[in-house]
Amino acid sequence: MGKVIAITNQKGGVGKTTTSINLCAALALMKKKVLLVDMDAQSNATQGIGIDRSSLEKTTYDVLIDEVPIESIIKHSEIPHLDVAPASIDLAGVEVQLSAIPKGREKRLRKAMDSVRNQYDYIIIDCPPALGLLNTNALTAADSVLIPVQCEYYALEGLTQLLNTILLTQSVFNRNLTIEGVLLTMLDSRTNLGVEVTQEVRKYFKDKVYKTVIPRNVKLSEAPSAGLSIFDYDSRSEGAKSYARLAKEVVSRNGR
Ligand code: ADP
Ligand code: MG
Repeated sequence: MGKVIAITNQKGGVGKTTTSINLCAALALMKKKVLLVDMDAQSNATQGIGIDRSSLEKTTYDVLIDEVPIESIIKHSEIPHLDVAPASIDLAGVEVQLSAIPKGREKRLRKAMDSVRNQYDYIIIDCPPALGLLNTNALTAADSVLIPVQCEYYALEGLTQLLNTILLTQSVFNRNLTIEGVLLTMLDSRTNLGVEVTQEVRKYFKDKVYKTVIPRNVKLSEAPSAGLSIFDYDSRSEGAKSYARLAKEVVSRNGR
């Protein structure tokens, strides 16, 4: 059975998509069979991994709303061992459409993924920056959540809300959901602030926090516009090294 990890934080701009793309690419480089599921209407993960949006007929929108089999939307990426379930802007209206479904609206993604779980070692879900039904679908489908936390003022702000959402999902839809890990992102080691935030987050989440901290690295922000993972864009960059280290930690925590 593939391990399903939702990359979630309702704050925008904390590194969810960057982590989704590059963790997937790093795991694929370790010869793990990986599926990246894009649940964000902005479809930055889909584009960032080099899938041409104009080539897409069906996306995660169709899976959620029309219960189209997920196999039929999956595309092979240019990266060996890495497949993508792409998103499109259609997802922007999906919260309203889902909320009109009387029964099982929170479980649509989970149901859809049943048929592909066995085909992958890891399934990584890139979540939207909101705690709505898309996020609930992701948390209900997932075995665990990976929470990126940006090293800035108010890093912990909003995390109580996120943790409450996780608890609620556990109690109502998915009692097996666990916290995979907390990832510190965009650390600027030249500032004291970054170090202080790191300490604060470690005090709160203890050994759930990955040893690997993702530094602020301009290559990581440039790579998506080329439609490349950091490993194909600049494999010698600090960004590439740090996401490779993160993937090793994820694999060792999971023993697979
Ligand atoms: P989210 O998906 O949480 O909204 P993104 O991954 O899209 O966040 O990141 C927000 C912005 O910050 C993007 O422009 C991205 O390229 C940039 N970014 C993300 N991580 C880093 C990093 N470690 N160093 C520099 N820029 C980064
Ligand atoms: Mg994003």
